[in-house]
Amino acid sequence: MRTFASNPLNTPDVILFFGTRTGKPREALLQGLKCPFCGQSGQMTGRVTPHYVHIFWLPVFRLKLFREVTCSHCKKGYAGPELSPDMVAALDEIQ
Ligand SMILES: [Zn+2]
Repeated sequence: MRTFASNPLNTPDVILFFGTRTGKPREALLQGLKCPFCGQSGQMTGRVTPHYVHIFWLPVFRLKLFREVTCSHCKKGYAGPELSPDMVAALDEIQ
């Protein structure tokens, strides 16, 4: 005869809530940066959004920063490998 214990490891009946969530983004106008697409300068906004691992919605450690730059003139967005060294340097200032 087989029995099925509901809690065979005798652990507390707690469901661990964890996952990832995004933190508050930081934004700043990146002065002096020129948009590679439309050529306008002073229109680039950088945004850095932290991603956290959370347990019970409390941030435990920071996983990564999502970094993006958007041109308010032509609305083109840049992220990841599209970021130029100038954009990366400007993003380093706001994070
Ligand atoms: Zn542009």
